[in-house]
Amino acid sequence: MFMTIDLHNHSYYSDGVLSPKELVCLAKKSECNVFALTDHDTIDGLNEAQQEANNQNIRLVHGVEISAMWSNMTIHIVGLNIDKDNSILRSGLKQHQDFRKIRASMMARGLGGAGVINAMEKTKALAKTDMITRTHFAQMLIQEGICKDIKSVFRRFLTGKKPGGVGGKWAQFDEVIEWIHVAGGVAVLAHPLRYRITQTKVMRMLSNLSNAGLNGVEVVTAYSTNEEIILMSKLADKYDLLYSCGSDYHGWNNQRIKIANLKDFPNSDRALWRDW
Ligand code: AMP
Ligand code: MN
Ligand code: MN
Ligand code: MN
Repeated sequence: MFMTIDLHNHSYYSDGVLSPKELVCLAKKSECNVFALTDHDTIDGLNEAQQEANNQNIRLVHGVEISAMWSNMTIHIVGLNIDKDNSILRSGLKQHQDFRKIRASMMARGLGGAGVINAMEKTKALAKTDMITRTHFAQMLIQEGICKDIKSVFRRFLTGKKPGGVGGKWAQFDEVIEWIHVAGGVAVLAHPLRYRITQTKVMRMLSNLSNAGLNGVEVVTAYSTNEEIILMSKLADKYDLLYSCGSDYHGWNNQRIKIANLKDFPNSDRALWRDW
C-alpha cells in the first residue's frame, strides 16, 4: 500500500498553532497514514494526540524534537517511536524546559533594554502552555508593531548579539542521541540544510552525529528542492543514515506548508520506517 508519512509536526505544546487533537484531525483529513507529533523539548502533547489518533484510526508516532549543541551551535534532533514514560528522557527534557525558562527571562531583559516594555508578560499571554519559544517572542514583537514579519524579527531581535539573542545551553548532541536511544527511539537530524553552514560543515556534522549513533536524517522537508533531496540522500548513504521525511508543520497562516504533502525519496529502500 502507498503510505503518506509525515514525521515532523508541532502543536501548541511548543510553537505550533493547533492543539494535538486538531493536528491529528488535520493529518487524517490530509490522508496521512503515519503521523508524528514532535514538539520542541516536550512530550506533553502526546497523550491528547494518542487519544485522537485512536478515535481517527491513524497511526501516531510518538516523537519529540530536541534542541542540542554541536560545534557550539544549536541543532535539532528528532526522536521517533520513543517511550514517553522513560525517566532518563523525561529528566533530559525537564533540564531543557528549565533552561527555556531562564532563557526567556534573559531574552525579556534584553528586549527591555531595547525599549520593549513588559516583554515577558506580553509573550506569556500568547502562549497556550508554559513552554516559551522564540516563536512566541517573535509573535509578540509583530503584534506590538515592532516588526512586520517573522524573518525580520529573528534577524533584528532574536539571534546572535541582538537584544533578545541568548546562546543555547542545550545538552550536547551525543547525550541527546543517548536519551532517545535509552527511551527505545530512533534519532534523526532535523532539516540538515537549514543551519546556515557550508556543505563541508554539514558533512562534518553528519559524520560526528553518525559516529554518536544517529539513525537517520531528514532527506525531505517541506521546501526541499529535487537537487537538495538528491544531495541529502547521497550524504545519508555516505554516513550510513536512513532517510526520514517531515513537513515541520507549525500551522502558522503565513506558511504555505501542508501536512503530509512531501516529495518522494529517490530510494525508498533506505526509508527510516522500512522495519516498522
Ligand atoms: P527556540 O527553540 O525557542 O529557539 O525556537 C526555535 C523556533 O523558532 C524554530 O523551531 C522555528 O520554528 C522558529 N524559527 C527560528 N528561526 C526562524 C526564522 N528565521 N524565521 C522563522 N522562524 C524561525
Ligand atoms: Mn518551531
Ligand atoms: Mn527544528
Ligand atoms: Mn520543528
